[in-house]
Amino acid sequence: MAELQKEFSVITIFPDMVKSYLGYSILKRAIEKGIISVTVHNLRDYVTDKHKTVDDYPYGGGPGMVMKPEPFFRIVEDKWPLRESCRIIMLSPRGRVFTQDIAREVAEDARETVFLCGRYEAIDERVRECLIDDEISIGDYILTGGELPALVIIDAASRLLPDVLGDEQSAEDESFSMGLLDYPHFTRPEEFRHMRVPKVLLSGNHADIRKWKKQQSLKITLLKRPELLRTYILSDEEKVLIEKIKEELL
Ligand code: SAM
Repeated sequence: MAELQKEFSVITIFPDMVKSYLGYSILKRAIEKGIISVTVHNLRDYVTDKHKTVDDYPYGGGPGMVMKPEPFFRIVEDKWPLRESCRIIMLSPRGRVFTQDIAREVAEDARETVFLCGRYEAIDERVRECLIDDEISIGDYILTGGELPALVIIDAASRLLPDVLGDEQSAEDESFSMGLLDYPHFTRPEEFRHMRVPKVLLSGNHADIRKWKKQQSLKITLLKRPELLRTYILSDEEKVLIEKIKEELL
């Protein structure tokens, strides 16, 4: 077993939904190797009434149901009595919007990361006031629950941990990691339906290949997400490359 690098917990009323995603591919292997642990808690286990009710009508009226506060307080007080040992994140469209920087922040946090997954219209506001350390949204749209957002964050953070990906370089090279979008990738065959792989990639000249990849990353970022270049600090080589790209595009 490898050394445990990151612990996650997910609190949900649909534990199987979360467990199912964790049973595949890279996350499955990371769990099996002991690099990460993900404990999925069923919120209903912390409900005391015989019908296992987790929601109720909203005070003041309005559509939908609201998740009751008691089960959330019970589970947090039972599992994490020493609150300093964990960081509790509520998944919510109101939260700060998830980015690669936040993924890195989660990956590097030595504390256990605990996700509270909402369902229905909302979670009772008192949970937000008293229990949570952070609130994260995965984008400006509304999903039916917090399970997918929790998995998105676990996935993005885990692949930044050493040894989770086969080749450590692959996380470093990807879109956003260096502040730019990724360059195009090709595999065999060399020619497919009259479309050829760029010659430089077949040349074996590592300096030229590195330069081509950088140029492509800059070009794609400039065309698709120019706002990323506002905060990206260009090296001298990149300044020259980007000027050339701009001339080409004129
Ligand atoms: N009434 C809420 C609103 O208008 O903001 C939406 C509730 S949504 C149907 C139910 C749950 O899904 C939320 O409590 C949250 O946990 C989760 N959720 C939905 N969209 C999300 C997003 N973009 N990011 C993170 N969590 C989200």
